[in-house]
Amino acid sequence: MTENKIRILEPVIADQIAAGEVVERPASVIKELVENSIDAGATKVRVEIDGGGVNRIRVADNGAGIPREEAPLAFKRHATSKIARLEDLEAVRTFGFRGEALPSIASVSRVTLRTRTADDVAGTVLTLEGGVPGGVRDAGCPVGTDIEVADLFFNTPARLKFMKKESTESGHCAEALVRIALIRPAVSFTFTTQGRKTRDLPRVERPGERVAALFPGESLAISESDRDGIGVLAILGPPQRAKAGAGSLYTYVNGRFVRDRAILRAVTQAFAGTLEPGRYPVGYISMTLPPGSFDVNVHPQKTEVRFADPSAVYRALTRGVGEMVSSSVWSIGAPSREEPLTNSGVAEEPIEYRRESADRPLIAPPSTSAPGSHIPSGERAPLPSSGIGGPVRREAVPQRPLREGPEGKFSAMRYIGQAKGTFLVLEDDDDLVLLDQHAAHERVTFERLRRQLAAGGISSQRLLMPHAVDLGPAETERIEELEERLGSLGLDISRAGPDRIAIHSVPAELAGASPDRLLADMVLALESSREGSRGDTDDGVLATMACHTSIRAGRAVDPREVESLLKEMDEIDFAGHCPHGRPVLARITWNEIRRRVGRE
Ligand code: ADP
Ligand code: MG
Repeated sequence: MTENKIRILEPVIADQIAAGEVVERPASVIKELVENSIDAGATKVRVEIDGGGVNRIRVADNGAGIPREEAPLAFKRHATSKIARLEDLEAVRTFGFRGEALPSIASVSRVTLRTRTADDVAGTVLTLEGGVPGGVRDAGCPVGTDIEVADLFFNTPARLKFMKKESTESGHCAEALVRIALIRPAVSFTFTTQGRKTRDLPRVERPGERVAALFPGESLAISESDRDGIGVLAILGPPQRAKAGAGSLYTYVNGRFVRDRAILRAVTQAFAGTLEPGRYPVGYISMTLPPGSFDVNVHPQKTEVRFADPSAVYRALTRGVGEMVSSSVWSIGAPSREEPLTNSGVAEEPIEYRRESADRPLIAPPSTSAPGSHIPSGERAPLPSSGIGGPVRREAVPQRPLREGPEGKFSAMRYIGQAKGTFLVLEDDDDLVLLDQHAAHERVTFERLRRQLAAGGISSQRLLMPHAVDLGPAETERIEELEERLGSLGLDISRAGPDRIAIHSVPAELAGASPDRLLADMVLALESSREGSRGDTDDGVLATMACHTSIRAGRAVDPREVESLLKEMDEIDFAGHCPHGRPVLARITWNEIRRRVGRE
């Protein structure tokens, strides 16, 4: 500690420090370079990597190119052609605007830039090593920009140590490209790793086509809505195909990829009751907001966003996506007796077409003559009601509507056993029945909760010790306001500090559930029902609660448990209101089975 005088850092050192924020790993370089290509108006972008991107990354585009005299400037900090004044930020339409990426990348690698504009006769080649410019020379090259970044972090060994396995880094690189490719269907992209082309995404007309290309075999539905000036285009897979974590749900605000907890919560809410906790649908949601109503200038990697009116965004999402879910466009629903489901029905229509104002189709409805022609690869999404496995695996099970009224005697059925750890196999004289044990339990729980609420309040079970949940002050306050309402639903809470809520008891029906998650989900459900986004307030909240039923798929069941479940199901009026419309069982008649094995 001899020389602790204040001094201005050398620009290269400052760039290396900034690089820590901008360039976390090879994938960050790809993100920045590909974004620059798009900002430059490229319609073709080629990405190549070697050694997980640590050894070499190359991004070549056919964009506008950089004029000879500006090329060295592009590698100076805060050098940007995209904004000039602070006010420009509000209306910024390009990905970049900070002028930080190129100097940061260059400071921790060896860069070769080849570029030419349409006006330049000769191309420019520029090299830098650890941010120090080598030289500028002429070269023949096509219009556009081609940047090669070699030996990433060669001069920052501490960073290099953090790099994961080559395959992991390659995966992140490919993911960085996917995030951009989804929102830019009009640009063609290729991705090559170790000389092998692993992605080839030709230019397409509509977002749905790009989404379909990136989610081969997925059954996708589209909905487009516009409320309070917020446009929502959602292209999503069905709840049955939801994944643990939000990794396959790509969300965008005005063309920028964002990761935002409030957006995810709204999606969960819109899928009310059809998703297991912690699961999210696969697909894509692109929101369009008026400029100035959000701020992306929150983080250098810019995946966070701040909304001026978060509740309007929340409403637009829960409604837009919610309509898609409630009309259940993927699901085969419960066909009428007169129209038994045929095997061709849903299986051949991987994309459902739906749009509120049908002036211009986003995706042409697939024709029956060329089923699923725009889905590139063979794998078909399993049918919503037929995740059954075994010999019926890829075919729709002909279904009949659940019997109406109290005459449905589930308890009179013979229980044969459990299949796939998920289905209870039952039989009676007419049918073979496969009952989804989790869905059935959820349904029964929902009915019990509904009855208790109608009788004055949901009974609760006290926790041995209060369960503390730490939150932000605003959230704590919002939850505190719901104390009474939550209490009537069996969740007793109190404020236990400026940023803390204590949970004292949970609904007895959900005794095994995680109190934190239950609280989060119930608050969401209550808040959105207050905003009037769902029709039947209580049912929406109860369906959300029933989701926390502890009997999950994959669990072995005791025959006595089955017996009591069936008895309870007898008491449920299946013709009545169903919390989320997911079929609880699949039925196949013995006649159908006889016919299939040629006995008739
Ligand atoms: P930003 O994108 O925030 O402006 P960058 O450091 O990423 O900052 O890039 C600096 C400048 O270099 C850009 O503003 C742009 O003028 C130019 N540039 C970078 N990449 C390209 C490219 N692929 N094609 C044309 N110009 C580019
Ligand atoms: Mg940039």
